[in-house]
Order: sequence, then structure tokens, then C-alpha cells
Amino acid sequence: MKAICVRETGGPEVLTLEEVPDPQTGAGEVLVRVHAAGVNPVDTYIRSGSQGRRPTLPYTPGTDGAGVIEAVGPGVDRRACGERVYFSGTACGGYSGAYAERAVCLAHQVHPLAASLSFAQGAAIGVPYATAHRALFSRAQSRAGETVLVHGGSGAVGIAAIQLARAHGMRVFATAGTARGLGLASAQGATQVFDHTSPSYLAEILAATRNQGVDVIIEMLANINLDNDLGLLALKGRVVVVGNRGRVEIDARQTMVKDGAVLGMTLGNVSASEMAQIHEELAAGLGDGTLTPVVGREFRLEQASDAHRAVMEPGAFGKIVLIS
Ligand code: NAP
Repeated sequence: MKAICVRETGGPEVLTLEEVPDPQTGAGEVLVRVHAAGVNPVDTYIRSGSQGRRPTLPYTPGTDGAGVIEAVGPGVDRRACGERVYFSGTACGGYSGAYAERAVCLAHQVHPLAASLSFAQGAAIGVPYATAHRALFSRAQSRAGETVLVHGGSGAVGIAAIQLARAHGMRVFATAGTARGLGLASAQGATQVFDHTSPSYLAEILAATRNQGVDVIIEMLANINLDNDLGLLALKGRVVVVGNRGRVEIDARQTMVKDGAVLGMTLGNVSASEMAQIHEELAAGLGDGTLTPVVGREFRLEQASDAHRAVMEPGAFGKIVLIS
């Protein structure tokens, strides 16, 4: 089969399309013919060697994908050949990543794909929707009636957070850095949108809350925004750090006066049973259209380098996927 391989860490150019042996399915595993793979920012951090997680080389990147089950291993009774599925996570290292024509997954990493969703949309579910769900509900304990600011609402996690928060009865503010991104966030359910490149956007957000502040901030770029976020919080407000790309200085007094909290999260800390519950909860919304992944750009598998450049550029518009 064809797969993207990384033989040494480095820039996007280290992603090369190669012919590799077809993966074999073991006990408790499922073989998926991958039709679309999700490109997550973390894939670029791992590829460049800038993230703590260092896979053994060579490896095939990617955790998220969607396709059709081609084989099931011994002991798998909940999945069947021919089933349309999405997956998040793969069974082992080596060539068993999502950036390939086939991937082997553990059975619990594979979920039915709603008939209304394309494979590209299926590849946009795993990391973005599970991250948004955990940030909103498990970490921030967000409740109906609260005001949530999705800080970075034009990207993959942001779109998922907007849809989930609206579906749970929250008032949703979102930011983006382009008119197109702001339009997308509005279309996905944000009640008010703000341009995070505008010098006045913080004052505009406060004004929109009549200076009461927001209850929850889902933060995609904490190293730029965390100190300002603390100034935007309502009493007992919570910031969830989802994305961070550097160091930041904060005035911790702002957490004192608000009884505020800064909560980190990494999807990798989620247990298999918690993850299974998250996907069970997503299933209803994905099935009835309340949750609809937005695919902004599609690249062919052999264009993985271009996709890695694109996912790190400003001007996000939903999810970037690879089609094979
Ligand atoms: P993405 O699709 O590339 O979206 C990035 C988002 O960040 C866009 O909405 C972008 O807006 C926004 N952004 C850019 N500059 C910003 C600023 N100054 N202030 C606020 N937002 C800004 O990426 P993603 O998949 O949604 O992931 C978002 C971040 O979360 C990434 O850093 C990723 O590594 C991280 N993440 C963490 C976890 C975890 O487990 N903790 C899981 C998934 C993702 P514009 O482009 O419109 O400016």
C-alpha cells in the first residue's frame, strides 16, 4: 500500500509517499481502508521533533481518519467488514498511521460513521471533537446559560467547540483572524464573533457581556492570550488551555479577584473508557446534524507536505484533510 513515511524529523519536506507492506490485523484489531485522514497541528510538532512524543523512525503520521473496514481480527465482535467508520488512534507505531491507504486500529478506536457524513468529515471528528468535548465539559464543567468564548473559533477544534456549546444551551462568543473565519464561526452557531487581530476586540467582548465577563474561555493560543483572558473572566470563570506554542507571563492576581481557574488539558491523558464515553455522546449529534464537521481544504495523500504547511498558516477555515 501507499503511505506517507517520516524517516527523519524535520520540515514538511520529510513527508514522503512510499510503497510499504500492507499492515496485518491481530487480535482485537480492525483494518480500515482509509479514504480520508485528518491533519492535526500536533502531527507537525511530532514530525519536526519539537514535541516530547518521539516515535521510532520511520513512522507514518496521523491518528484521525475515516474509511471502510476491510478486516477484523479475532475477538472483535462490535465491528464488521464493509462498515463505514471513523477512527481516532491507531494500534501501533511504524507504518500504521492514518496518512496511508490502510491503517490498523484497536477496536475501541473505531466508531460508526453516520450515513450523512462524508469520509472527509469523518476524518475531522476524532481529535477536534474529543478535545472540544473534554475542554467544555470535563475540564471547564460548562453549563447551559453560561457564556463561552471560543478563542480561535475558525479552526477544527474551535468549530467543534462552537457546535457543542450551542447544542448544550450556552451563549457562544468566538474569535477568528479573518472575515472568512468570522463568517464560518457565525454560521456554525456563534452568537457574536470578534476579530482577534483588532486592537479593540477585548473591549468589545467585555462590552458584549455588560462588563460581567465570560464564564468559560476555550483557548487555542495561550502563549499570546492567557493574561488577557484572565481579564475577560467573570466571577468563578475558567480558562481551558487547549493550544499553546510558547511561554507567557500572567498577572496571577487576576485569578484571585475572580476566584478564577486556569485548567490545562491534553487529549493523551484521557483513559480509553472516558474516550469511549465521549464518542458515545458525540454520536447522537453527529447522527442528527447538530454536530457537522466542516472540511475547509482537501489535499491528496501525496500532498501531505503542503497540508502540513497549510495547517500552520493563519486564516483557518475548518479542517484540513488528506484524501486517498
Ligand atoms: P487549527 O484548525 O489550525 O485552528 C487554529 C485556530 O487558532 C484558528 O481558529 C486560528 O484563527 C486560531 N488563532 C490563531 N491566532 C490566534 C490568536 N492570536 N488568538 C486566538 N486564536 C488564534 O488548529 P486546531 O486543530 O483547531 O487546534 C487548535 C490548537 O489546539 C492547536 O495549537 C493545537 O495544537 C491544539 N490542540 C491541543 C489539543 C490538546 O489535547 N490539548 C488537542 C487538539 C488541538 P485564525 O486562523 O482565524 O486566526
